[in-house]
Amino acid sequence: MTARARRSTSAKAPVAGPALLDWRDSSHWSSRPAPCRYCGFDTQLRDSKWKPAHKTCAEEALAQQAADAADAYRKDTL
Ligand SMILES: [Zn+2]
Repeated sequence: MTARARRSTSAKAPVAGPALLDWRDSSHWSSRPAPCRYCGFDTQLRDSKWKPAHKTCAEEALAQQAADAADAYRKDTL
């Protein structure tokens, strides 16, 4: 398999699981490492509010928030 073939395959792959954030923009990168707001380990990444956070940690937190919101919604409607 060539690199080109692999790239086109992954581009078409459906997104599974929680929504993935796109932090490729330089606005999510700091030259200074700081403790992640979720796990406490140093990271140079920043979330949309410029708080230190790993991308994976932020994605997990978003998935948890969505799950909590879905739970709350279900409780409200029962
Ligand atoms: Zn983290």
